[in-house]
Amino acid sequence: MRKVHGRGSASVAALDGVDITFGQGSFTAVMGPSGSGKSTFLHCAAGLDRPTSGTVTVAGQDLAELNENALTKLRRERIGFVFQAFNLLPTLTVEQNITLPMRFAGKRADRRRVAEVIAHVGLTDRARHRPHELSGGQQQRVAIARALVVRPAVLFADEPTGALDTRTAAEVLGLLRESVRIDGQTVVMVTHDPVAASYADHVVFLADGRIADRVSAPTADTIAERMTHLGAFADAPGPGRPGPIGRVR
Ligand code: ADP
Ligand code: MG
Repeated sequence: MRKVHGRGSASVAALDGVDITFGQGSFTAVMGPSGSGKSTFLHCAAGLDRPTSGTVTVAGQDLAELNENALTKLRRERIGFVFQAFNLLPTLTVEQNITLPMRFAGKRADRRRVAEVIAHVGLTDRARHRPHELSGGQQQRVAIARALVVRPAVLFADEPTGALDTRTAAEVLGLLRESVRIDGQTVVMVTHDPVAASYADHVVFLADGRIADRVSAPTADTIAERMTHLGAFADAPGPGRPGPIGRVR
């Protein structure tokens, strides 16, 4: 996949030849220095932006084949997002925030599923509370519940722990990892934090819009060590995994 922002002399190739497959039930961290193309990658992979060339496939569907309406529908029903800013609506309760995307999609919220996902993120006793009554970590857990309630094919997270302290970040990362282990959720998370990335099964390093390195079964130490070598390009193929749920090429 290639993505060029802007036109002519002002154009920037934010992604240049990125080819990656995410296996179903895998947890991948995407790392790289500022400006390396992480957000551009996530936006293209999640159908929020279209690549200049190449293909993005989510759960067997080539996103380029979809018009805007169909793409919006697929994003609502098959893709989850979590951002650094929790993006909760302050006037709505936890439960209402979680069911909002379903209501936008014209669907009645399945009460059992909503209760299940609220329990999963440990907020059963906070379901009627509003965001300002919750800690930052609790608010991010609401955002994760909102993303998971539709059982997305892929959950994309852009610096989900960027605004959290270390202990709260660990809670949120543990929750993401549990979704992968227990529910077979596929998670792709952008982070600059080696400790956060160590919760993933695989780490992909971007540098100047290309895949510069990959690590499987990472520890915070091996990640930190690889980060110091970023910029030295070695486009090593990662380990294959059966049952790809998404591909960017
Ligand atoms: P990261 O998230 O790793 O910091 P980005 O994907 O945001 O990287 O940006 C990659 C490159 O593309 C950078 O050089 C950035 O300046 C450029 N870029 C990102 N978005 C735009 C945009 N909308 N218009 C022009 N250039 C952009
Ligand atoms: Mg970014």
